[in-house]
Amino acid sequence: MKITDVRACQPIAADSPDDWRTTIGQILVAIDTDAGLTGYGVGGGGAAGIHVIEAELRSALLGRDPSPVEEIWDDLYDLMLPYGQAGIAIMAQSGVDLALWDLRGKDAGRPVAQLLAEDGMARIGEPLPTYITVWDGLAEAQAAGHRAFKLHVERNAGPDRVQRVIDTVRESREIVGPGVPLMVDAWMKWDLETTLAVAEGVEGLGVEWIEEPLPVHDIDGYRTLSRESAIPIAGGEHEYTARAFQHLIDERLHQVLQPDVCWCGGLTELVKIYRMARGTGIRVCPHRGSEIWSLHALAGLDPDPLPESGRPWMTWVGGQPPIVNGMVTLGDRPGLGVEIDETALPGLDRG
Ligand SMILES: [Mg+2]
Repeated sequence: MKITDVRACQPIAADSPDDWRTTIGQILVAIDTDAGLTGYGVGGGGAAGIHVIEAELRSALLGRDPSPVEEIWDDLYDLMLPYGQAGIAIMAQSGVDLALWDLRGKDAGRPVAQLLAEDGMARIGEPLPTYITVWDGLAEAQAAGHRAFKLHVERNAGPDRVQRVIDTVRESREIVGPGVPLMVDAWMKWDLETTLAVAEGVEGLGVEWIEEPLPVHDIDGYRTLSRESAIPIAGGEHEYTARAFQHLIDERLHQVLQPDVCWCGGLTELVKIYRMARGTGIRVCPHRGSEIWSLHALAGLDPDPLPESGRPWMTWVGGQPPIVNGMVTLGDRPGLGVEIDETALPGLDRG
């Protein structure tokens, strides 16, 4: 089998927020082969990500056998070494890598999760518990059947923000009730002092983790948190490649790792991260883990899967299993199991 074309576009759904149309806009990658199979993946980086694929990665892939996916990952990474060990370049490569994994599964006639499961026993057809991420509408999410919740609290600003976050968590605990998993996400907006004060203030409220309290570059801050915060620290959705996660694991900077398969380098890197974390006591809990691009890894590799709710505006990804009563169930279609209506996606033209 040989690669005959590599195509990419940025699908725009009617209700996608501005940042997903522009700065971190999701791109769809299609890789065609002379066997008649097309693999699909999603990456990031918007127009810049598409440029990386069209100007650099496409020519390195045309005519190549798509099957040695990990070897291709290394070659593409090497190609971009002068400018792209993180960020947009790796987001673009993530889409390519996922499309190659989709081809690998389709060629084998098996779901990717089945290829990943070392005992061959992927959790296909088995409902997995999820958690939902909310900015507002916690009670509505609970009424809709969700059973575990993460609050985005980064909008609280100003001198009283610590108290406002603590109040929000207390009110949220009253809404969801005791024993229900509850997490908070600061989306890199806090500093060390704020984080330690929040961690102390929410003790006893059953917060399972505080997510991304500090910018990713604040290694010293995370070192301090790993020693002093009584609440586990989560992070990693803005880290790129398994090498970055190796560092987080070696230094034990996070207790929960949240790689985003569409940004961190693709499934090749997510698989490495799962293997690196095994036996360390550090949990892998992928960002947007219920989206079908990640869900195969959760179903095939994760001893204690807790997929995060996906982005509801990515309606152009056909084949995405819905979350029903807080559970998501991976189907058994070959490859990643996505169904893309190319006629609805201008820009994904066949050359
Ligand atoms: Mg987050």
